[in-house]
Amino acid sequence: MSDKVIVDLTENFARVGEPIDFTFDCKPADELLPYPDAHLENIRAQLTVTFLRPNVDVQGKIVCSVSGRCDRCLDDVSAQIEVPFHQVFYKDVAEDEDGYVYTGSKLDATKAVCDEIVLSMPTNLLCKPDCKGLCPKCGCNLNERQCGCDTAKENAFAALKNLKF
Ligand SMILES: [Zn+2]
Ligand SMILES: [Zn+2]
Repeated sequence: MSDKVIVDLTENFARVGEPIDFTFDCKPADELLPYPDAHLENIRAQLTVTFLRPNVDVQGKIVCSVSGRCDRCLDDVSAQIEVPFHQVFYKDVAEDEDGYVYTGSKLDATKAVCDEIVLSMPTNLLCKPDCKGLCPKCGCNLNERQCGCDTAKENAFAALKNLKF
């Protein structure tokens, strides 16, 4: 498994305007992720590449799995993330600062793919959308059992305390 997404454009150059499908499996760096102790695995990029002379249109989707720990209950989490992808790669020089370029017959889409994954990450990694988290009082996992701690009363009391000067 490579750690880069590099499209060989030779065939595209011969077939201007025709979409050609490519699939890449790669293993990216973990430091891309905004969460501690998380790992990004098995990136699969399914891309349709069209040579529009001189620019190259790349679209498709990226699927990857993220494993780490739930933000609320600290349980192990493994989530599959699917990201739509659509970028234009300019020949040699980008039209703007954020644009991507290709040189010669090789189009390196690694950075574009990684950027897209990072942008699409949910802000919190959760084991499930309605994870109840840990009890603030006794620390038990509220998804597994109800500890019966009276946390509502405590919160109301804390709120009252904050009102006083
Ligand atoms: Zn959780
Ligand atoms: Zn409790």
